[in-house]
Amino acid sequence: MKSKLPHVGTTIFSVMSALANECQAINLSQGFPNFPVDQRLISLIQENSLTNVHQYAPMTGIVELREQIVQKINLHYQRELDPSNVLITAGATQAIFATIQALVHPGEEVIILDPSYDCYESPVILSGAKAIRIPLSDNFLPDWDHIRSKVNHQTKLIITNNPHNPSGRVWDDSDFVELQNLLNDFPNLWVLSDEVYEFISFEKKHISAHQIDGLKDRSIVVSSFGKTFHITGWKIGYLTAPDKVMAEIHKVHQFMVFSVNSPAQAALACYLPETDLHQLGTFYQEKRDYFREQMSSSRFKLLPSDGSYFQVASFENISDETDVEFCKRMTKEFGVASIPLSVFNADLADRKLIRFCFAKDQETLSSAAQRLCKI
Ligand code: PMP
Ligand code: GLN
Repeated sequence: MKSKLPHVGTTIFSVMSALANECQAINLSQGFPNFPVDQRLISLIQENSLTNVHQYAPMTGIVELREQIVQKINLHYQRELDPSNVLITAGATQAIFATIQALVHPGEEVIILDPSYDCYESPVILSGAKAIRIPLSDNFLPDWDHIRSKVNHQTKLIITNNPHNPSGRVWDDSDFVELQNLLNDFPNLWVLSDEVYEFISFEKKHISAHQIDGLKDRSIVVSSFGKTFHITGWKIGYLTAPDKVMAEIHKVHQFMVFSVNSPAQAALACYLPETDLHQLGTFYQEKRDYFREQMSSSRFKLLPSDGSYFQVASFENISDETDVEFCKRMTKEFGVASIPLSVFNADLADRKLIRFCFAKDQETLSSAAQRLCKI
């Protein structure tokens, strides 16, 4: 059969998690927490499932949840939004897919910054548009001169991801100035701002597109409850968008999923006002620091991690295998699974870098580090 996505295989996350299971390795590859979810959230999903929440939710999401999201955005980013500018989605993945399908026309161009999270390119290709993959700088921050040289009047969207997966880097103020300048020069350009790790940043604080005048009204901002509340399997998140864009996203969303799991929405609407998301950065910073300390005697070179729950490490002192070969061998022979970075580059450029997920309990991080220190 003629494939619509001939270059797409199975995602690296499925590949490495399957290999980790097969080898009974410690799985620091796919990004998901292995510690318990807040008991209060479990109680709320139980309580809510005993009420009348089992039929379709409204297409855009229940208003109670959208109102709570509006309040959180106001608290963290001092932005006033109307609940009609919030759409509940089946995770960030569906938010991204629906946005691209709604906005991007055949022949238009979409800027993707590499290494890029792997769900961005396919919806662009399926829209008949062209993905323009631009490498980030060596330090994984945007190379604005390069980006600017690729933007033209056909460019519809630039997809940004901050805090960044896989590198864990967080943007500087100056990056936002550059992005605003670009938007000023290209009035038809939109930003798809993937901020799923928005509440997980460390010394350098995350700045959101919600906070920047000149950016917020030109952005679709994507968030994930999976990341924020350690519930990746619930597959629930949201996006915010200005009125005219939201109207188009609704048209796609209603025929992709129509609406999202209603017990989860009801539970999260109750849970959100009880949570203090200011603590999440500290919670993960302790894990990052613990993992880095445990790894200090290893031969890996650890790169900076400013946010997200990922730690990138160079293995150039250990092996000259490709990063994919090295990750696979490390899983099989040393019992620790990780993610190779090359698969997130359009040209598969291999810089001998791999990604560890530190969203794990101390015991797991310590056992993994012990194994890694023997390599
Ligand atoms: N964007 C980034 C950068 C991610 O790391 C992930 C993985 N969680 C997603 C989007 C998808 O999020 P979700 O699981 O909510 O679909
Ligand atoms: N976002 C997760 C990661 O980066 C993976 C999610 C998935 O498996 N699709 O590891």
